Amino acid sequence: MGRIRILPDQVANKIAAGEVVERPASVVKELLENSLDAGATDLRVEVESGGRRLIRITDDGCGMLRDDALLAFERHATSKLRDVKDLLSISTLGFRGEALPSIASVSRLLLETRSADEVTGTRIEIAGGKMLRCEEAALGGGTVVTVRDLFYNVPARRKFLRTEQTELAHIASLVTHYSLAHPDRTYRLTSGPTELLHVTPVATLQERVYQVFGSQVLDELVDIGARERDLFLPPPSVPPSEAIAAYQRERGPDEDPPTRTFRLTGFFSRPQVQKANRNSIFIFVNGRLIRDRLLLHALSSAYHNLIPPSAYPFALLFLECAPEEVDVNVHPSKTEVRFRHGSFVHDFVRDTLRDRLMETRPAPTFSPAQPATDLPGHAPSPQPAARLPYSEFSQMLENEAPGAVDSVLPEPAGAEPPLPDFTLRPTAAPAPRLDFTAPPIEVTPGPPPSGKLSRHLDAHGVFPVEAIPPPEMSLSVLSDLRPLGQIHESFIIAAGRDGLWIIDQHVAHERILFEQVLKQRAAGRVEMQRLLMPLIIQLTPEQQIDYARIADELHASGFETEPFGNRTIAVKAAPASVGAADLERILFEILEIAETELRGASLDDLRRSICASIACQAAIKINTRLDPAKMEWLLRALAATDCPMSCPHGRPIAMHYSTREILKAFHRI
Ligand code: ADP
Ligand code: MG
Repeated sequence: MGRIRILPDQVANKIAAGEVVERPASVVKELLENSLDAGATDLRVEVESGGRRLIRITDDGCGMLRDDALLAFERHATSKLRDVKDLLSISTLGFRGEALPSIASVSRLLLETRSADEVTGTRIEIAGGKMLRCEEAALGGGTVVTVRDLFYNVPARRKFLRTEQTELAHIASLVTHYSLAHPDRTYRLTSGPTELLHVTPVATLQERVYQVFGSQVLDELVDIGARERDLFLPPPSVPPSEAIAAYQRERGPDEDPPTRTFRLTGFFSRPQVQKANRNSIFIFVNGRLIRDRLLLHALSSAYHNLIPPSAYPFALLFLECAPEEVDVNVHPSKTEVRFRHGSFVHDFVRDTLRDRLMETRPAPTFSPAQPATDLPGHAPSPQPAARLPYSEFSQMLENEAPGAVDSVLPEPAGAEPPLPDFTLRPTAAPAPRLDFTAPPIEVTPGPPPSGKLSRHLDAHGVFPVEAIPPPEMSLSVLSDLRPLGQIHESFIIAAGRDGLWIIDQHVAHERILFEQVLKQRAAGRVEMQRLLMPLIIQLTPEQQIDYARIADELHASGFETEPFGNRTIAVKAAPASVGAADLERILFEILEIAETELRGASLDDLRRSICASIACQAAIKINTRLDPAKMEWLLRALAATDCPMSCPHGRPIAMHYSTREILKAFHRI
């Protein structure tokens, strides 16, 4: 007798459940998606014990007919696909017909549903995949799915669950983000008696972002608006203009070639918001929440040289395209996708975000009490200070005044929570940017009449509130600043129309040089200088491999090198701005970049990293005295850069202390 046999459905479902149901949040995801596919506009999620004990999703969708309700628990039973052709253009969130049978095989499940076409509803109870009950019931329209005791019959899975708080955080994050994907619907999430999220329909995504995160977070985000790019078919490998020409040769000049339009909307953070992990990145493709390496890479490329490589932004991106352009049938949990024209999509997303970042040129403000990196509920992200040229400087400050820098520098690494736990309601007021909670110093015996300092009685002079200039949100104002001097011969202090500015001279110059070098590089005219004697450098085997890979790029960036015997290279010329003494170090630095973060990454990223290294090397150092003319030049040159907000390594360049904040600090408003 043969040894191979077909597995019974119950076993097959349990195996499928292994992939589909990873944790309570996966159940919530599948059930929410079913409700959305059913056209629900009111979605209610109730959980207990982080979803282990109970998950209940109630919707006002189309409900199911009695026969369908029974069929829904069969493997591969779906109303969303008919034949294999449909697989190429899926417009629903579900299509595999696996979720309900999988969930039912690892829990005690109760389905209550009624379609508008039937007078009575249906109640079905299943435990561990076995049908216990199926009966008619008097029910309202829509569907309620109750999942109890998840993994009660799969002890191995139960062991892998994290704490209730963690599982709840996953669920909260998921429901929150689905609520952001559909501002026109009501979402409600409760955990036991606690309501975690309740949002009612609004007209725009911006209003929904406000409902969910509050106004402060909204201020820290950039609205993409709606950006589109057309893909010309056919072949993506042919540049669009050639594709059009080829098409017109075939069909005559009057007919436009077929195009597919890609559209990107959503919000993403300004460079000063930096997260320690990817938990604040949510990407939706055609309404489906996905995890996709290509899009993550596009996002991080957009921030390349704006935030440190170890930091992540906050992003809420919605990409819409023709269903034929994206294959969603890649993984059972449907969280991965494959694009038909991957590099087009990648570049579209990267360019759109980069352009929007450049357009806004936002100025970071002071927030010593709460670093700007800190969205509500998140620990401040660590900044890898130790890897940057500032560590010495901060060390020096620390020695001078113990504790003095603590309030300015972000907390050290390691404080990061394992998971997002959003503050879900705007009612949880965001902390003030400056902490002035300290009791006011009493200057007169007894309190003033109003209990506060009354402006009329105030003998300290009245600041005409009307005269407060509008806040300077953009760094374009840098060119109008009046430099006042330096602190520690490292930071330029400048007065502007609206308040005070502090500019880090090294990173400011680094940004100026970076863009200069990048432009020279793009135009193919990098200034080089010949070395009197070639510099001979020994490489390790790994460095040798990396060197071979980037030799052309090095050459184009102004380093004339050639192999010189075994694992040795000779450097004959270098970019004009790099001093001979620094040459060896900078080359090793570039090789290290090539090794650690750029293996297999794009040439564009490598090029930017090389330019960043050159710029860092040549920039004015800290602890350097600057005369007023030089400071003025620096500010003007900085204002003229494309991106004056952060240095090529992602550190902020200029901090702004607005007139309003100054007035507040002195209790004048
Ligand atoms: P899929 O979503 O991939 O089709 P599921 O196992 O998740 O597979 O669901 C099976 C079918 O049950 C769906 O195709 C749909 O017809 C029906 N269904 C599931 N949930 C609901 C719901 N909340 N409202 C109406 N119909 C539903
Ligand atoms: Mg489904």
